[in-house]
Amino acid sequence: MHEYGATNFTQEGARLSEVSYVLDSTAFYSGIPYQGSGRYYTTYSVLDEVKHKSIGSQLVHSRVKVTEPSKSSIEKVRKNAEKTGDINSLSEADLSLIALALDLMESGDAVYLVSDDFAVRNVADSLGIPLSQTVLKGSGWHRISWVMKCRGCGKEYRESRLNECPVCGTKLVKKPLNNS
Ligand SMILES: [Zn+2]
Repeated sequence: MHEYGATNFTQEGARLSEVSYVLDSTAFYSGIPYQGSGRYYTTYSVLDEVKHKSIGSQLVHSRVKVTEPSKSSIEKVRKNAEKTGDINSLSEADLSLIALALDLMESGDAVYLVSDDFAVRNVADSLGIPLSQTVLKGSGWHRISWVMKCRGCGKEYRESRLNECPVCGTKLVKKPLNNS
């Protein structure tokens, strides 16, 4: 897996500058756009989140290209997030970010989506979008499938949009699918 760390960046600066990075808010907090010369992208809704936390918006504007994803990509991401069971964990900003990475990828860019968010990574991975983390976390990450589990009768459902158990009416909780 590609890792986005400061040391890594210095060593591979030349190569990394050819690559586009789509940044989520955690990437801004970790200071990624303020170092090096990669091509950085984000969406307006992510920038709003970052501004909210008053991170130097002037600097962000000068280093980061802010753009909106296509509607068709947002739809595609939404459909995939329903399939993977992550739809309820994703904000509009999350959806826009994955869709932007998809747009760039489909236009032939070498792109990495930089996010530590589990649901974002899960859905991006299901769409074949290359991922990068903001911090070095080893290779522990893998894609997860979710099930909705009933705390009343114990039945499990693969349909992520269910909120209540169709059998007994108890509220369902989301949990990772046990593959074993
Ligand atoms: Zn039940």
